[in-house]
Amino acid sequence: MMKSEIFTGGCLCDTVRYEVRGPLFDAHYCHCRTCQKASGAPVIAGAFLSRDALRFTHGEPKFYGSSPIVERGFCADCGTYLLYQPLIKEWSDWTIITISSLDHPESLPPERHYGVESRIPWFDVRDNLPREQYEDGFIEILSDENHEEREAILRRFGAQ
Ligand SMILES: [Zn+2]
Ligand SMILES: [Zn+2]
Repeated sequence: MMKSEIFTGGCLCDTVRYEVRGPLFDAHYCHCRTCQKASGAPVIAGAFLSRDALRFTHGEPKFYGSSPIVERGFCADCGTYLLYQPLIKEWSDWTIITISSLDHPESLPPERHYGVESRIPWFDVRDNLPREQYEDGFIEILSDENHEEREAILRRFGAQ
């Protein structure tokens, strides 16, 4: 589902505030270990957007390179996890925003689960949404520009 309107959001302390003028799409849960650690929560909910649709209306996030292919944006004052931003050139036009940092997260229900092999066992999920596994070797393959599987992954996980 694609939602097209103006979205606003920000961190817990309001130092970083943002605005999205454009669609948010492919809302999903991510259960991967890195998202768990980045957020301190059992799962995050994220949505894709075009990078040029995002504007910071107050403050700027700080970025942490969580792997060679991704940096994660958070508030340097209160720590709220806000953004997942690919660093590889083929994916430089999109980013993912954490849905819970939106002022109205209720407007964007997730439509799939990603990284389900890292789901914490006590975190019970009883919906019927599709479940997908994190790719083994994903980061290594995408970090190596000459890897033969790279193109296939780029196509499969590109901004839809
Ligand atoms: Zn903050
Ligand atoms: Zn994740």
